[in-house]
Parts: sequence; structure tokens; C-alpha cells
Amino acid sequence: MNAPNNTQDAMAAFSPATGSALSHVVSFSGGACSFWAAARVVERYGAENVTLLFADTKMEDEDLYRFNREATQYLGVPLTVISDGRTPWQVFSDEGMMGNSRVDLCSRILKRELLDQWHRANCLEMTSTLYVGIDWTEEHRLHRLRARKSGWRIEAPMCEAPLWDKCRMTDELRKIGIEPPRLYKLGFPHNNCGGFCIKAGQAHFAHLLKVMPERYAQHEANEEAMRARLGDVSVMKDRRGGTTATLTMKMLRDRIERGESFDRSEWGGCGCAIDAPQEQNPAEVASLP
Ligand code: SF4
Repeated sequence: MNAPNNTQDAMAAFSPATGSALSHVVSFSGGACSFWAAARVVERYGAENVTLLFADTKMEDEDLYRFNREATQYLGVPLTVISDGRTPWQVFSDEGMMGNSRVDLCSRILKRELLDQWHRANCLEMTSTLYVGIDWTEEHRLHRLRARKSGWRIEAPMCEAPLWDKCRMTDELRKIGIEPPRLYKLGFPHNNCGGFCIKAGQAHFAHLLKVMPERYAQHEANEEAMRARLGDVSVMKDRRGGTTATLTMKMLRDRIERGESFDRSEWGGCGCAIDAPQEQNPAEVASLP
């Protein structure tokens, strides 16, 4: 999971704005939807007026960097990369708290806060437009984002006609000679954090175990290390029987290996960088001793 060499290191851009606020800034996640959102903005305003902004969690799939390289070459816009240098697991360790679907520390610290900071340093609410890779099936997320960042003009070009579904987006990528990110072909619903997500459910993790067992084992070891420090915490929850209980990655793997059932419909969500959950439930916050 090495970061590419041909990206424009944007940390320098955190220095005071140089006078001209950027006009059209696309949050570029490494997914098909944000690529096509960017393509529409470039078509409308010209590559020279567009910034592609990528918040790297340092835990991305290797192929995301290949996709970003080919995609930005096609669009003719250099990639602006921001990162605080930590992975989600390093953030959990530093914060003394495990992330989960209700307390998404990683998305908040490694994505939302970094992006917000960059926007404030380089854009102007009066003249800049921010674009996100949300499509017409998830327009509710756009409304939530506009509410969270009130004052900014925020657009989602893939919520506009022509309306494309995910298959159309990947088909159109192949038509222009860009192979879609491999995680889609491997059956993952998104291309974030290398197929892992603290908001994922049992079905998603079972899929990760099936197609990337070594990567699953790495995350399982990380979770066990956090449990050794924090106590009975876990990324997933078992909600069978109307109660909520710990469900570790080890427990899920043991169940699957024993041939026991698990919730095959619980894929969970992601919404990384855009959606902010109802943070924070103190009952779920486990502090370091
Ligand atoms: S994709 Fe999931 S694990 Fe990765 S930063 Fe976003 S919320 Fe956290």
C-alpha cells in the first residue's frame, strides 16, 4: 500500500492562501463515482480550473493508487493529496478508542477534519464550489453534507442527468481505457481503506475473509491488540435476539469456519468523509487505563 510518487504533495497548501482561492474543488476518493463527478466538472470548467483533492488514509488498496494515477492523467489534473500520516488503526491507538459505526474517529480525523482544514486554507465560501462523488441513489447524503458545511456551495454532479448507476460508471471507465478499481471486481461496495471499514457489517467482513484472508488476518490482529489495551470493544456488534453484544473479527471468523450462520444481509455502510454519525455515545467510549 505505497503512496504514489507522481502526486502533488498538498501539505504545503496548508500554508496561508496565496491570494487566489480555488474555484472548483472535487473530493476525489479513488472511487468510480468521484471520478465521473470530477470528469463532469472538468468538462464544464476546464482542467486548469479544477482541483482534485484526495485524503489518503494510508490504508488504501494498492490498486487505488494505480486507478488514481490513470484517472488523473486522463482528466489532466494533478492529484492533490492530504494526509496526517496515520492509518485508522494508528488513530484508534493514539485516541485510546476503537472506531465503530457510531464513533467514526478515522473518518472524522483522517478525512473530514483534514478536508475542512484544507478548504478553509485554500478556498473561499463566496467563490469556491466543492464537489463530491455522491450519486442520485444517495442524494440524502448530499443534503446532510450541505447541512454540516452550511455556507459552502456543494454540488454532486452525479446526482444530475444523465443519471448513471454503478455498473454504468464502471462500464464507462472501461470504455475510456481505465480499468475500474479492483475492489469492485472483487465484490466490495466501495474502494475505501482497502476493503475494510469500521462501519462495515458481518456480510462485508465475511466477504473480506473470503477474498482477502491475509488482509482480514491483519485487521483481526489489530482488533485483538486494541482489545488487549481497551477491554471488551469491537468494530462489529452482534444484534441477534434484540440485544447488542461484542462481535470481534476473531469471533466472526470462528463462526464462519465452524459453518455457523451469520448475518449475510448486514453489509453496513461507509459514507467516508461525507457522513458524520451521531457522535459520540459515551457508553461506547473506552478509555485507556
Ligand atoms: S473507510 Fe471506514 S475505516 Fe476507512 S477511514 Fe472511512 S470510516 Fe474509517
